[in-house]
Amino acid sequence: MQARMQNLESGDSPDGVSPALLGGSLSSEEGERAWIQAVAFTRDRSPASFDQWFSGVQFDGFTDGVLSLRARDEFVRQWIEDYYLPTLCEWLRGHTGLSIQARWSIDGALDHPVADRPSYPPVRPRTISVRPFPVDEPSGVRDVGAAGGSDPPPPPAPRIHAVPAPMEALNPKSTFGNFVVGPSNQLAHAASMAAAGGGGRRHNPLFICGGTGLGKTHLVHAIAHSVREDRPDARILYISAERFVNEFVQALQDQKMNDFRARYREKCDVLLVDDIHSLAGKTQTQEEFFHAFNALHQGGKQIVVTSDKYPQQLDKMEERLVSRFQWGLVADIQAPELETRVAIIRKKAQLEHIELEPDVCLQIAQSVRSNVRELEGTLIRLAAKASLLGKPIDIAFARTEIAASGTSRPNEASVEDIQRMVCHHFKLRSVDLVSKDRHKSIAFARHVAMYLCKQRLKCSFPELGRAFGNRDHTTVISAVRKVESLRSNDPEVRAHLEALERKLGSLD
Ligand code: ADP
Ligand code: MG
Repeated sequence: MQARMQNLESGDSPDGVSPALLGGSLSSEEGERAWIQAVAFTRDRSPASFDQWFSGVQFDGFTDGVLSLRARDEFVRQWIEDYYLPTLCEWLRGHTGLSIQARWSIDGALDHPVADRPSYPPVRPRTISVRPFPVDEPSGVRDVGAAGGSDPPPPPAPRIHAVPAPMEALNPKSTFGNFVVGPSNQLAHAASMAAAGGGGRRHNPLFICGGTGLGKTHLVHAIAHSVREDRPDARILYISAERFVNEFVQALQDQKMNDFRARYREKCDVLLVDDIHSLAGKTQTQEEFFHAFNALHQGGKQIVVTSDKYPQQLDKMEERLVSRFQWGLVADIQAPELETRVAIIRKKAQLEHIELEPDVCLQIAQSVRSNVRELEGTLIRLAAKASLLGKPIDIAFARTEIAASGTSRPNEASVEDIQRMVCHHFKLRSVDLVSKDRHKSIAFARHVAMYLCKQRLKCSFPELGRAFGNRDHTTVISAVRKVESLRSNDPEVRAHLEALERKLGSLD
């Protein structure tokens, strides 16, 4: 029997789901209960092929964030890991506040495969209260109020919309109204508003890119809510790229490609595809998406795509798709500045009915710097713990808890973060740094970005060359040297570098 661990900490959490009990450990009963609900949630999202795959998987326990699973063979393990595990783990993480690791073993003889166990023994709930995640109904879209909580809002009146197929759940809280706008995200926000209002060719497609947890999915949901509100008859299709792959594979398997194509090419007015980078290397699906894209674009239908990278940086993506992603507007989101982080915490506290003193707000904003999801997680964790212990969330409590949870982390910037920041600073288009353009101002910004990456990150010169539009490592070496020398001799360059380093410092 082989075993391997996979850390899924970096995955997105289910948006807007407040973790119920955070920072603690679960009993095995609670762990199993959480697992059952995570399975139910995942099965709801992909009912068609769920049983087929989960008949080859067994649950062996969930304790201290470690999810022990057994797979019949390596193929099943890989498939589950690629297509189902992210959803399962996101759900578990969002509802328990634990960082989740999957521990796999391979075993040809499973005693209790997941798919063969439709009903699990009821488990008495204790401290953990796992809440159902809102899932839209297949035949239309239903607004679902905030999940759980002591004071759930009244359910909104159901509204039937002409949505052609099951679409992924929209978080009712991810609206434009709940999105805090700051310098780091204002372009993406403005572009999303424009796209929601039928922005025209300039915003079609809209390509929103940025690191994880910075608000891409929130904006896409906000677009969907806004279109629904303004044009109730518009057929909106919101789907993760990962699910697009699943549906495509399923349609092929069931010989239902005509339905699949009609859905994405004809019966859709607004197509919102989240996390397009997960199409990497999936050439057949890319081909299918390419045709859907063309059909919709030619028909003047709005397309919005999100990604964790700029189009040119997308790995294993067909060139013709990459070029189409740049036909409209590429809008990036960067890590929020301190003021924006404070405003986000205030907004979240208000939405969650958490009373927070300004100094506590600032303390949280200073400890979590590069990811809004973590920022929110820290707030919720503090609130949950304070209420559990019957303590107020004062500054001393916040400091102790933040220190204990090890939330503030050292340097989390990536090459992409630095590139985004430099583009933003020099007011360049996001594509410029990785392009072949040798215009003086672009080349200078590119050199500065290479220099900062070399200073801050443990990347080799060849790695940096690849990250900057596949350049040779000697180009990077000479860029870094040039900037070093300018730094000593040119006050203007020094000022730019210092400003950028200050911004980068806010990521540390
Ligand atoms: P991404 O899709 O980029 O990984 P999400 O859109 O899932 O990130 O955002 C993570 C969490 O942070 C969500 O709960 C979202 O509502 C919240 N969030 C991100 N940016 C903002 C913002 N500017 N204002 C309010 N909430 C935000
Ligand atoms: Mg997302």
